[in-house]
Amino acid sequence: MSDSSSAAHEALMQFLYQAPIGLVQTTLDGEITMINPMSAQLLMPLAPRGDLSNLFDVLQGSAPHLRDQAAAAAYPGGEVCDGLRVSVGPPPIGDDIPPTLSIRLLRLDSHMLMCSVTDITAALRLERQHVEAELRDASRIDSLTAMPNRIVVLERIEHTLERARIDPDHRFAVLFINGDRFNRVNVTLGPAAGDELLRMMASRINAAVRQRDVVILNSQGDQTAGRLGVDEFVVVLEAVPSIDVAALVAQRLVDALRKPYAISGGLVHSTASVGVALGDGHAADADAVLQDASLAMREAKRGGGARHCVFEPLMKERAWRRASLESELRLAVQDGQLFVVYQPITHLDDGRVAGFEALVRWQHPLRGVVSPIEFIEIAEETGLIGPLGAYVLHSACRQFVLWQRQFDGGAPQVLSVNLSRAQLVESTLVDEVRHALKVSGMAAECLQLEITESLAAESPLIQSRLHELKALGVKLALDDFGTGYSSLASLHLWPVDVIKIDRSFVSQVTTSAHHRVLIEATVMVARSLCMGTVAEGVETEAQADALKALRCDKAQGYLYARPMGSEEASLWLTAQTRAQSQPGAVPALREPLQLV
Ligand code: C2E
Ligand code: MG
Ligand code: MG
Repeated sequence: MSDSSSAAHEALMQFLYQAPIGLVQTTLDGEITMINPMSAQLLMPLAPRGDLSNLFDVLQGSAPHLRDQAAAAAYPGGEVCDGLRVSVGPPPIGDDIPPTLSIRLLRLDSHMLMCSVTDITAALRLERQHVEAELRDASRIDSLTAMPNRIVVLERIEHTLERARIDPDHRFAVLFINGDRFNRVNVTLGPAAGDELLRMMASRINAAVRQRDVVILNSQGDQTAGRLGVDEFVVVLEAVPSIDVAALVAQRLVDALRKPYAISGGLVHSTASVGVALGDGHAADADAVLQDASLAMREAKRGGGARHCVFEPLMKERAWRRASLESELRLAVQDGQLFVVYQPITHLDDGRVAGFEALVRWQHPLRGVVSPIEFIEIAEETGLIGPLGAYVLHSACRQFVLWQRQFDGGAPQVLSVNLSRAQLVESTLVDEVRHALKVSGMAAECLQLEITESLAAESPLIQSRLHELKALGVKLALDDFGTGYSSLASLHLWPVDVIKIDRSFVSQVTTSAHHRVLIEATVMVARSLCMGTVAEGVETEAQADALKALRCDKAQGYLYARPMGSEEASLWLTAQTRAQSQPGAVPALREPLQLV
């Protein structure tokens, strides 16, 4: 360097030193070689024990990866970070904006970095005031929760999307929150309690999002929480470093929303599911990101609710398949593509047929036979479960009466029909069952309605519906026992006659002492309450023997027969009756007849 250029460099350094903006020059390792008074003043609250010798040490708490990013940055003039927001302490009392710095770091050459530090607290406060002023506009506020409404939420997504279109590194996240079975509270406790629950949910969401911890601060952007629909809320995180941060916030929301709510003098238990979609500049528009988040929320619900789920492109395909199944199912119900198959339930002690369980099937013109696992949920969501359930009930009752006439003493004694949640909450269900019994001429005590364990535990409405059904004289069975939440200790609370022990337990009866003990305990408690027991999904002789030794009453499973169409079931019954009538004959025909 010549004398004159060295003097110029010295003058420049003096100029920068006194500049009213924070400037720091460091080595590649962050060792500070020049720091002007403004920077020293701004960074001092972050300096560990007042030590301002290394910039990366000073920023370690807020930007731990800065050292690596600096080493990887191109030079000369390569940007390590720009607009990195660093909070230097808690917000002053009565304010919710913490003192915040904006950091820009450039790599000058192979061994030097230059950093600018600006206090942006006032700018943030202005921005917040501007946003709040906008929000005060009544047309943009949800009157129940005082949250921003749909218009604002979409605007905020569009706003951050615009930023992402300019900056390829900019990421944001949309969190779609939906109450799990909110309607239950509305129906059982009344709309005033429903409104109160929504207000409390809104305030918990606001609190969870405002929580100014390291997750949110490092997200370097504004957050908006708004209400979209009845029990639909959305949180927009306008800048997030990664999906992990968004998922953390989502889980925090799930946790906050699952705590009991003190409403109408009692405690209401309610949970919510959250779908998370990460957006970048490639997203088509705000609606598309919102839709992705909503799809992920649906997956979270399908997984049992009270959880978060992150969007994956595969979910779109699944949703598409569901949508096409949905419209085809409508046709199927009208066009008679549904049919009922029957699986025998057998007495374990002597192998006699005890009854049949009716299971619905869908003969799809292109896809072949579709499993109820795929379409019952769709039928519930679309309201098609009403006609579908009525069809199964009427067909099965009719078939059962035919068998009783045909086989007389050898006829099955019980017909089991499954009920789903949506059927149980319908006020018309009891009349429908009464009607099916009447037109078929079937005795009420021969009909057994199966409800899944998790359903039975649910609400006073379902409990009273079960009692109404019992008053008709039909029997009730608790299906899939062991998979839900109810414990053996609470079995006495349910007005059921039979416990069906889930296949997941039965399949391990010969291999796991733990499962064997659970089955034994279930059988004992059921007996003490005068309830019968049926083991589901029995596939081997060894399982049947073990269940018999545990004093389980009945069994159902591929060992005896797979579900069969009505004609095959009639043939199966004929063979059974014949075998039973021959003295010393092997009691059960144990070859599966037809795979349906
Ligand atoms: P579920 O009521 O617990 O019915 C027993 C399921 O286990 C049936 O499946 C049956 O085919 C299967 N299964 C029986 N024995 C064995 C075995 O030994 N091994 C194995 N691996 N599986 C066995 P499916 O017919 O696919 O029905 C699945 C579920 O769909 C049923 O579970 C029930 O919850 C529901 N569902 C079926 N039909 C209806 C209906 O008409 N209405 C309603 N609401 N739900 C139905
Ligand atoms: Mg069942
Ligand atoms: Mg079951």
